[in-house]
Amino acid sequence: MDRAERRERLVELYKEASECRLCPLSETRGSVVFGNGNADADLMFIGEAPGAEEDRQGLPFVGRAGGLLDELLGGIDLTRKDVFVANVLKCRPPGNRDPQPIEIESCRPYLEKQVELIQPRVIGTLGNFATKLITASNTGITRVRGTPQVRTVGGRTVFVVPLFHPAAALRTPSLAETLREDFAKLPGLIAQPPPGEIAEERDEIPDRGDGATVAATAGSEASQLDLFG
Ligand code: URA
Repeated sequence: MDRAERRERLVELYKEASECRLCPLSETRGSVVFGNGNADADLMFIGEAPGAEEDRQGLPFVGRAGGLLDELLGGIDLTRKDVFVANVLKCRPPGNRDPQPIEIESCRPYLEKQVELIQPRVIGTLGNFATKLITASNTGITRVRGTPQVRTVGGRTVFVVPLFHPAAALRTPSLAETLREDFAKLPGLIAQPPPGEIAEERDEIPDRGDGATVAATAGSEASQLDLFG
């Protein structure tokens, strides 16, 4: 599938997700927050779920945590236009409570499809929920942060870099420096051949991380079609 076709399918997925009724969050959401950015990005970020401001605007990471994400990207000479940003959940949990298993499972095919269509080389998981889902492990973020893993997500073998959630760094400023150090590892990984190709060259079977397949969602207004660069 060429780049134009992948983008077209991403737009279709966005339209499908914007009408999603697969879980009870569809009753309480203001908008579906599909994710946005470069539809052909080498680097993708996966956060937890939209907050109040994201729900209002229909865009991911536009609140305070988003401000820090922008700053961290600037630190590695990237902008939001270079990357794609999505969440485990496309709809806001009421009162920003933790995502529930049924919500994660309902939303997961959207995220997996997003990864399949965008074809990133590197995925940065922001916080515990995204990290546990994408690495298919229960190990908490504090133990795994900053150490790249090879996982198969949406049928694609990628580097996954667990990162603290920017909101955690806003609450606990000492984490911000760690987050900066971990972000500094991302450009080197993007520059490497995709891990699937490395494994093929070595005739090895990549670490598949059972069940580590992720999905994503979409919206519908014409104005939202330029969510994807
Ligand atoms: N936190 C998240 O995990 N995602 C957003 O989109 C905003 C805040």
